[in-house]
Amino acid sequence: MTALPGIGPQLGRLFERLAGPLVVDLLWHLPSGVIDRSTSPPVAALEADRVVTLQVRVEGHQPGMGRRPYRVVCADDTGILTLVYFNVKSDYLARLFPVGAERIVSGKVEFYNGAAQMPHPDLVLRPDELDRLKPIEPVYPLTAGLAPRAVQRAAAAALDRVPELPEWIDPGLKQQRQWPQWAEALRDAHAPAGEADLSPAAPARERLAYDEVFASQLAVALVRARRQRRRGRAIVATGKLAAAVEAGLGFALTGAQRLAIAEISADLAQPRHMMRLLQGDVGSGKTLVALMAMLSAVESGAQAALMAPTEILARQHQATLRRLGRPAGLDIGLLTGREKGRARDAALAGLASGLTPVVVGTHALLQPDVAFADLALAVIDEQHRFGVEQRLALAEKGHDADTLLMSATPIPRTLMMTAYGDLDTSRLTEKPPGRQPVDTRTVPLERLGEVEAAVGRALAHGAKAYWICPLVDESEDADLAAARERSKALEPLRPGRVGLVHGRMKTSDKDRVMAAFAGDAIDLLVATTVIEVGVDVPAATIMVVEHAERFGLAQLHQLRGRIGRGDKPSTCLLLYQSPLGAVARQRLSTLRETDDGFHIAEEDLRLRGAGEVLGTRQSGLPTLRLADLAAHAELIAIAHDDARLVLDRDPHLESPRGQALRTLLYLFRRDEAVQYLRAG
Ligand code: ADP
Ligand code: MG
Repeated sequence: MTALPGIGPQLGRLFERLAGPLVVDLLWHLPSGVIDRSTSPPVAALEADRVVTLQVRVEGHQPGMGRRPYRVVCADDTGILTLVYFNVKSDYLARLFPVGAERIVSGKVEFYNGAAQMPHPDLVLRPDELDRLKPIEPVYPLTAGLAPRAVQRAAAAALDRVPELPEWIDPGLKQQRQWPQWAEALRDAHAPAGEADLSPAAPARERLAYDEVFASQLAVALVRARRQRRRGRAIVATGKLAAAVEAGLGFALTGAQRLAIAEISADLAQPRHMMRLLQGDVGSGKTLVALMAMLSAVESGAQAALMAPTEILARQHQATLRRLGRPAGLDIGLLTGREKGRARDAALAGLASGLTPVVVGTHALLQPDVAFADLALAVIDEQHRFGVEQRLALAEKGHDADTLLMSATPIPRTLMMTAYGDLDTSRLTEKPPGRQPVDTRTVPLERLGEVEAAVGRALAHGAKAYWICPLVDESEDADLAAARERSKALEPLRPGRVGLVHGRMKTSDKDRVMAAFAGDAIDLLVATTVIEVGVDVPAATIMVVEHAERFGLAQLHQLRGRIGRGDKPSTCLLLYQSPLGAVARQRLSTLRETDDGFHIAEEDLRLRGAGEVLGTRQSGLPTLRLADLAAHAELIAIAHDDARLVLDRDPHLESPRGQALRTLLYLFRRDEAVQYLRAG
């Protein structure tokens, strides 16, 4: 940044905070508005709050006193305009505005006691300097300490250095879209002629947005291509164990499950690395798909491991997999933080010797002393709860092991391509049959008493219910206290049969309460969002969410997925604090209208923006500066396809267009992807 004229280390730091460390970052820092300085009415016709540019005569000065501002009285032939300055040195103003001189001033007009005034004009010029006036001026987002004019100047200086670069966009696409060249697009985007030029659909902005998403898609396509070239292992499955398990299910696989299993098996059979994401709503039957994949590994004589984010989930998975796997005579090991001493030694020995073909566990599986005889498949459940490295670490305990990631958070397509463009995906878009849709209602919190009474009646008739209290990060203690209080208040509904789980509890205590709820000892479970993931209690048919307006859409959808898992009709009551904001209202009504997680995810993205949907940091989602996931969704899809096409034709980016694409990757700092070309 300090390469630009007039920017030293100090200003450089401010610019870095504003835009980023490099000159190119300033090019990406596009105007967020325009000021039109072309209006120039006579003083008598001035209107309040308009930006105008006028030529006036300096009539006199009224220096400030105490809190009174300094006033420079000016006029044209139609009236008087007073310039008002607070805290500006009077000798400076006396020099700037010699009495009797003509000046061009530009700024916003206000009226004070009926008199027109212009506080702190943006611009003061002598008539012979008129050529310095730009009739339309870009307005840049600012940061504290940087004046608008400094940013304008720096952006202009950066633009002066923009070279003409060879075109990397497909000529047909560029023509069809009527996009300008790169350098021209930058100049246009920094010189908006009006509001229309600020729109994401303006050709210059669209072109730059495309460059950005294209660079990102090309980078992930390169990573993907490299992974596919890397040697993997071909898992030769006999289908024997899978057939035994399927025969023992007592139900048929859904079409979506069959398709996912086929996709995964095909990947496993290939002698290259699998990195596949299995997406499906809560209850869509991912566990069974994972089991079938793990059976392939076992049939080939190797091992498989499934890692879950919490201990409760790991235990539940072990129990489920044991039950489902029984017809195949499959032993399923367990390794969590709670296995200690001899139990842990035994578990480790089973894995190291290969006697345990399948293991379920938590992060504990990643500990250095956990070794496998021959791990061929790593399954990561609720993958977004793990860091990027953790997701990959489990497979590293095997020999060229494949990875299957699972997520119950359906990710919108555009986001999927941007954040996980290098992954192959399978989607369970269909739920197992016989599920009753959950009856979802919104109820104002004032009717809490009625809700309590209704829940009490249902419990008396043998129902089981969740009662969710919100946990807001900033004041966990207060929220916890609220949850405790709620459980006390609800206790009389079922004396001795009301439980509480929250994030501060010891795992063993949490497990005990959950087990009591899944069993026969507890009917009403008051919980903070710790139950959000995975937990399966099919007998639960009621869910009350307190302060539903504080939850995100996807989170509410996940919570609701805890009920409606059995064959009885279920009810979800979303209690909200009125008045509801527009976004919260939209969220709750979306939830009432649909149960389709993929649809809900798209809606969530629309309402909240990408960063929040995934949590920008954890997801490794590259931050987009020029493209807007919602406005440019179509561009992302085009870039996704084009990137793959380019690499099919020119896998090493050697053609002239390939060379241009390398430049594009450098511009967007995706050049680490270029190294993959060599690393092969
Ligand atoms: P997810 O992990 O996707 O949330 P699960 O794998 O826990 O879902 O499945 C939810 C429930 O549905 C489990 O009780 C499971 O046994 C059952 N299930 C899975 N597949 C089917 C199917 N094809 N038909 C009927 N029930 C199924
Ligand atoms: Mg699951």
